[in-house]
This record gives sequence, C-alpha cells and structure tokens, in this order.
Amino acid sequence: MPAPYKDRFAGKKVLVTGASQGIGEATARRFAEEGAQVALNGRKEDKLIAVRDKLPKAAVGDHAIATGDISKEADVKRLMQESIETMGGLDVLVCNAGYQIASPSEDIKLEDFEGVMAVNVTGVMLPCREAIKYWLENGINGVIIVNSSVHQIIPKPHYLGYSASKGAVDNIVRTLALEYASRGIRVNAVAPGAIVTPINMSWINDPEQYKNVSSHIPMKRPGESREIADAITFLAAEDSTYITGQTLFVDGGLTLFGDFEKNWSS
Ligand code: NAD
Repeated sequence: MPAPYKDRFAGKKVLVTGASQGIGEATARRFAEEGAQVALNGRKEDKLIAVRDKLPKAAVGDHAIATGDISKEADVKRLMQESIETMGGLDVLVCNAGYQIASPSEDIKLEDFEGVMAVNVTGVMLPCREAIKYWLENGINGVIIVNSSVHQIIPKPHYLGYSASKGAVDNIVRTLALEYASRGIRVNAVAPGAIVTPINMSWINDPEQYKNVSSHIPMKRPGESREIADAITFLAAEDSTYITGQTLFVDGGLTLFGDFEKNWSS
C-alpha cells in the first residue's frame, strides 16, 4: 500500500533501531517514502544494506547504515555519531528494536531476563540520551517515538522480562517527555497488539493458530507492520506537535477487555 502522504518528512533525518525486518523495516520505508533520509540500525550489516537497497532514494545524500548492538553503550555512541555525520543531522529517533524470550517464571534464566531488559530498556535509554544531548547542544526540536507493546499494560505470563521491559518503557517515555517538554523535545510511544512480523511466523503460518490469535482481537485480525508505521509517523509529524508523554495503542481493540463485548457479568 503506498504511503498516504507525500514529502511529509522532506529534509528530515530519521534513525530507526531494529530496522532490518518487521515493524522497524516498515517504519524506515514509510519515512523514506515520505521524503526522509533514514539511518537503519541493526546488528547485521548485510541485512541492513538489503533493506536500504529497496528504499526509495533520499532526495539529498544516501540513507545511512548504523550497524551495532543497541544495548551496548560504545556501539550506540559510535553509530549515532556516524549517522548524524552521514545524514548531516538528526530530527527523529525511533526506538523500535526489541525481543522476548519465553519461560515459566519459576525457571527464568538470569541471562535471559537481563538480555531482554538490556535491549528493550537500556537499548531505549542509550539512543534517547545521545539524541537528546545532540538536540540540546544544537537547539533542535527533536522527536522520539518508542515502540512499546500492549504488554506495557496487559500481563504476559511466561514472558516476565518482556512485560517488565515494556512497563519500564512507559516510564522512560513519560519521564523524558516531562523533563524535556519545555525545551521543545517530544517523546511518545506506540503500543502494538499482535502484528504480522517475522517473530510471529509460528502462528502466522499455522491457519488454526492464526484463527485462534484473531479470535482474541476485537477487530478479528492481527495488524500489519505498516499500520504501526502509520502511528509512528503520525507521532513524528507536524500532525502531533502538542502531543507528548503519551502511548498510542495500535491493537485492533486488544486493550478494550474483549471478553466484555457481550455482557456476562450482570
Ligand atoms: P522483529 O524481530 O521482526 O524485529 C526486531 C528488530 O530488532 C530486528 O531488526 C532485530 O535485528 C533488531 N534487534 C534485536 N536486538 C537488537 C539489538 N540488540 N541491537 C540492534 N537491533 C536489534 O520484531 P518486530 O515484531 O518488528 O518488533 C519490533 C518492536 O515491536 C519490538 O520492540 C517489539 O517488542 C514490538 N512489538 C511487536 C509486536 C508484534 O506482534 N510483532 C507486538 C508488540 C510490540
């Protein structure tokens, strides 16, 4: 589906973490389709180059490759500095990279819990810190959008690290939004429900499981990555200049207590 707007981000420079596939890739493409120059972060350079090769060309300069592990301080400092140099600036930061590991909570391995927290929480804090520092030093009204999850508020048994990390993201967003609101920096989040991306292939490719997942969603279908990109770009655009510290749930109604659609309690 083509981008609904044209040139909404002409001249803007955008860094997207975790842009080698899924929601990050769709978001980077949407920004590029609307005129932005994009820096693509991920850990594997070849995958990022393959994504970049499919993007519409930037009007000025090339889209940047920002290889590195977003949970590692030295990587983040280097890749953000390189991206800013390559693009000649930074206007929008999308903290998208994230993952989850399943385990009964009584057996959760410390390294698994800490690994998820490192990417989903530290991997948000570090690029936010670097971007904000750059914006304050250069008088830029930057925008941050963090990719959270409906599990920011819906408990997720067997995914303790993931639930904890997305809960933490809410307070990162609200705290940074308040701390920098008076200095022209906006910070918001999107919280997707069940989205068709590579990490969900186990149920996407199984018709029974796909039906089961869909049955729990009030709109009776999972979302597409481009529908999350729609929300992320809205929060980055001139359409949302008075919005900060908010989480926009993009979930087909998943957070509306679907069980109560038909009255069963009175
Ligand atoms: P995905 O696995 O398809 O993509 C995740 C991306 O993050 C990949 O490019 C991966 O390489 C990158 N990444 C992982 N660890 C990294 C690290 N340490 N450094 C740099 N990059 C790293 O996942 P997705 O479904 O597109 O999810 C993206 C975001 O959306 C995540 O934060 C996830 O929690 C959130 N989310 C997804 C869904 C869903 O149903 N797919 C639902 C709610 C929230």
